[in-house]
Amino acid sequence: MTRQYHLESVLLPEGWARGALVSVAADGRIDAIEQRHAPEAAELRESERIAGFVVPGMPNAHSHAFQRGMRGNTEYRLSARDSFWTWRQAMYALANRIEPKDLEILATRLFIDMLKSGYTSVAEFHYLHRQPNGDLYPGGNLLWEAIVAAARTAGIGLTLLPTLYQTSDFGGQPLKREQARFGLETEQFLRAVEQRIGEERRHASATLRTGAAFHSLRAVPLATLREASIALRQIDPTLPLHIHVAEQVQEVESCKLATGRRPIELLLDTGLLSPHWCLVHATHGTPAELQGVAASGAAVCVSISTEANLGDGFFDAAGFLRRGGHVCVGSDSQATVSPAEELRWMEYQQRLRKKRRAVLADQFESHVGTRLWRDAAQHGAQAIGQPAGAIAVGHRADWLVLDSMHPSMAGASADTALDHLVFAGGDAAIRDVMVAGRWVVKQGHHAAEPALRGDFVALMQRLSA
Ligand SMILES: [Zn+2]
Repeated sequence: MTRQYHLESVLLPEGWARGALVSVAADGRIDAIEQRHAPEAAELRESERIAGFVVPGMPNAHSHAFQRGMRGNTEYRLSARDSFWTWRQAMYALANRIEPKDLEILATRLFIDMLKSGYTSVAEFHYLHRQPNGDLYPGGNLLWEAIVAAARTAGIGLTLLPTLYQTSDFGGQPLKREQARFGLETEQFLRAVEQRIGEERRHASATLRTGAAFHSLRAVPLATLREASIALRQIDPTLPLHIHVAEQVQEVESCKLATGRRPIELLLDTGLLSPHWCLVHATHGTPAELQGVAASGAAVCVSISTEANLGDGFFDAAGFLRRGGHVCVGSDSQATVSPAEELRWMEYQQRLRKKRRAVLADQFESHVGTRLWRDAAQHGAQAIGQPAGAIAVGHRADWLVLDSMHPSMAGASADTALDHLVFAGGDAAIRDVMVAGRWVVKQGHHAAEPALRGDFVALMQRLSA
């Protein structure tokens, strides 16, 4: 059944509209938008009236759900040389304790947090495949299914990215004992992805899609990456393909030592990059590399909360946007989960460096919050390969309603509503959230939260012990 909404104030791709009638079809897609400041009485009777500022929900282009189990538990000093690499040992220790039931609880809690903070879909970059002893799960991958079940309970859009992980370093180094759960043979991986895509074609879902990922150039030899990408493109020419790249200086140096080239250069040299690729981090890209990535149409996903938490470095967002690059955001290690926070820090890094303000606004959109939110939503949808990221005909009805009566929104107009959300720390102003035409958060509450609370707290206590 088609439902109609009267949105009082809505951000459309062409800018803010004061009043619009939006029809949402039974499949959760928007099938008509009419800008109407003062609808007629009959139209109003047939519509659900939505007061407040309505904006596109944000796709979360990079997440590792199991890492929600570490939040708050790694913020202490072990030595004077704490770094990404020492954090990684704690992450491996957690990865080796997670069972499918645990993962489903963590991911459900996490996906609800995402919805309440404004993410309406998520790309789960998932490299936990095997049982802790290294055996495959009998009768299907229970860890992949745990993620799918969590997304269904939470009601969030999901692009599951089964991730290939075969080596522990450049030069084909074998996996370490603590990485045994991550490994899959190329053929095994391709067949599992193909099987999932075949299932999806038979039972189309409005909110679920499968893509694929390569963990990094450390973890996948370049020849394998090339061969597997070509095979995956034959299965689905628009398959979202993601890879972590150039996050750490040490990773760039090891790559140069092993291959004579920098990691982003190697990827560009393959000629494989296209708008269906997403490079995660790209923190240490040179101007020439960022130019190459922008020209390829591939998106870059930054997760500044995680990059800051791990001491990675600064991504040159201003330089990449100036070159026409497509940037989206993700919550990665789940240190915090908030698209507004990611975008605030994207702008603040630039202000701190350049000693200027409003660096990432441009001549077409002077409001930083509006520009960053609108573009990250659109490019995030591109990166995760879902019809989301904009309130437009043919797109899924994934939107947020910002409460114009919330204290953090006091005095906001449509033009400044996203500036308030991004810069005034107003996640609490996100009142209602819709995914595929279904309200999943109403008045700040999610229906699945109360039943989950006990299991989640008990699990976190066990993992923190
Ligand atoms: Zn990551």
